[in-house]
Amino acid sequence: MKYPFPKVDLHFHLDGSIVPEVGWKIAQDPDVDLDLKTYEDYVKMATVPATGVEVDVFEYLAKFDLLVKLMQTKEHLKEITYTTIKRACEEGLFYLEIRFAPQKHTEKGLTQRDAIDAVLEGIRQAAVDFPLIKVGLILCCMLSTEDNSKENEETVRLTEEYLGKGVVGIDLAGGEDSVPMENYAYLFTDYHKKGYPMTIHAGDNGKPQNVATVIGWGANRVGHGKHCWYDKDVLQKVIETKTPIEVCLTSNIHCKTEPSYELHPAKKLLDAGVLVTLNTDNQSISNINLDFEYDRAIEQVGFTYNDLIQMNISSINASFMPEEEKPLYIEKLEKYFK
Ligand SMILES: [Zn+2]
Repeated sequence: MKYPFPKVDLHFHLDGSIVPEVGWKIAQDPDVDLDLKTYEDYVKMATVPATGVEVDVFEYLAKFDLLVKLMQTKEHLKEITYTTIKRACEEGLFYLEIRFAPQKHTEKGLTQRDAIDAVLEGIRQAAVDFPLIKVGLILCCMLSTEDNSKENEETVRLTEEYLGKGVVGIDLAGGEDSVPMENYAYLFTDYHKKGYPMTIHAGDNGKPQNVATVIGWGANRVGHGKHCWYDKDVLQKVIETKTPIEVCLTSNIHCKTEPSYELHPAKKLLDAGVLVTLNTDNQSISNINLDFEYDRAIEQVGFTYNDLIQMNISSINASFMPEEEKPLYIEKLEKYFK
């Protein structure tokens, strides 16, 4: 159904959320290295099959290697960003944090800085045309089995430089436990000391302890994080530190990191006192939107309508928007409690 209250998405990957018509148009540009003949080919490349034919998390992540080929020029990055925000506004979001990894957009000569500037340009143009939605940008460092330490260090430097200029925080994404999390701790030490905002992917397909590890790094939020449910001490730490987790239901089912909606621990986590937020992760890969996720949340996971309002309020509180702006957003949401 279409939910009437204004919505928030804090965990939203730009490359996984390309508007299909826009992605297909760009795919036909002769400079794009993708060999796709028809729109159906595009959809097959860009999305996973409907629930029931799940892929694993690494097959799922392989989609991104193809999708980023659509995002190697400033024009393409800008257009994808702008149209993604347009769709989010039309779907009734009033706050969105988009994330992307600038190091994945340097295949055709862009620098990380060029890629960030292009996405910010798309955000700025959207802010003029769609003033009902506010957007922040999170820059992702990447887990990798290859040595990308230089690229990650550059992303951290650029995040610090662009904070307050459209960028609102940093992330670490990629195949969890494909390499030890500890290898990446050093990236965030100085960053955290300066008190800058951080959300880190952990406890998705990986072990619960990863959630405690990134809270130790100073993560203000944890991407997915729901595996904390399976370790009593880690769960206690999440509750005591009031660390919000960014749950993405359908993404978890598609990646087989949870067995089903019915067995997903999200509602139990909320009832245990965890600050749960609901997000989409990769709208286009999963072919979903927030309304679809809310339907699953109520019909299959066990949440109530008021839980959805409460989780959106938690999202605003957990967001990286300026503190003084939060009460206005929360006030708007509170009106919808039944
Ligand atoms: Zn993610």
